[in-house]
Amino acid sequence: MFEEATSAAWLSSLPALNVGQVKLDEPLAPWCSVRAGGNAQAWVKPSTPDQLIRLLKQLESGQVPVSILGGGANTLVGDGGVPGVTLKLPSDLFPEEVNGAGAEVLVTLCAGAAIARLLTVMKSHGLVGAEFLAGIPGTLGGAARMNAGTKNGECMTIVDALELATPTGLGWLPQSGISFRYRHTEIPAGSVVTRVRFRLRRGDLAESQAKIDADLGYRKRTQPLSQPSFGSVFTNPSGGFAGALIESVGLKGHRIGGAQISSQHANWIVNVGGAKAADVTALMALAQARVFEAQGVKLHPEVQRMGVFLPNTVE
Ligand SMILES: Cc1cc2nc3c(=O)[nH]c(=O)nc-3n(C[C@H](O)[C@H](O)[C@H](O)COP(=O)(O)OP(=O)(O)OC[C@H]3O[C@@H](n4cnc5c(N)ncnc54)[C@H](O)[C@@H]3O)c2cc1C
Repeated sequence: MFEEATSAAWLSSLPALNVGQVKLDEPLAPWCSVRAGGNAQAWVKPSTPDQLIRLLKQLESGQVPVSILGGGANTLVGDGGVPGVTLKLPSDLFPEEVNGAGAEVLVTLCAGAAIARLLTVMKSHGLVGAEFLAGIPGTLGGAARMNAGTKNGECMTIVDALELATPTGLGWLPQSGISFRYRHTEIPAGSVVTRVRFRLRRGDLAESQAKIDADLGYRKRTQPLSQPSFGSVFTNPSGGFAGALIESVGLKGHRIGGAQISSQHANWIVNVGGAKAADVTALMALAQARVFEAQGVKLHPEVQRMGVFLPNTVE
């Protein structure tokens, strides 16, 4: 069991352990796209695979909890902060690889790299297949874990394999051995995705760019992209849309504290200034309760909650 009292001393010894960059009591709001939430007890960014494995070993032996933060584009950090270590991977933990001379090409990128990097590498090598990820913020590790995507595709369908780090080292897991579904991939407990290998193909670049442009245009027209948010709050229930359900109970534009159900898209909560995580979770609980009451549908959060929340936390 992780004891708060002993943890502070344990964590303050981290900088001496050669595990990378360490910041104690680091505010996490700037690391999350909704710009809300408390501090990490310790924030650690290893620079090399050795440092990462050393860190995981140390955390395991000290029974210190570890939370993984990618781009923070689908994460809500509790106002009480995050105990233990918040792990941030660099975008260049390994060199990038592009392999294959035939129609199919394997592209291997760091989990800490931006999703946008995949699009850049894809285009620059004359490849197609990842268009549906255009405009999704965050990292490739987060995209794999969330099985990020749109109605046009899901991340894990173009993944060939994931490389995972555990306290015992690094290893590749083929996509066929990983279970995934809408907005969720089963990553083995205690593992950190360090690299993602994508299977792309040679194809028509003009057609690929047209798909990307259409998706980005749709986002611009329908999503509140100029305000801090974490994208969709709830997963869509089967056969329906969370946004339409929330709109139908009159909550579009509803505000609690610094958080608001977007007046542009009811399945988005935006930070209109100084939002607390508690404001966001209060809005989520309200939307869930009203939609359940009116339509009998239970909305499930897509956003990943990290750290310590006040009592109104939704299930
Ligand atoms: C403006 C906007 C638009 C969006 N549009 C979409 C969309 O169209 N489709 C969609 O699916 N999502 C969308 N999202 C949500 C978000 O972009 C995706 O879920 C994205 O994949 C999150 O990546 P991230 O690195 O930011 O993950 P984070 O929010 O940092 O983390 C998400 C989860 O993944 C885990 N994780 C992160 N990195 C790793 C790793 N290396 N190893 C193991 N676990 C890890 C975290 O612990 C957490 O549980 C949108 C968000 C915003 C703000």
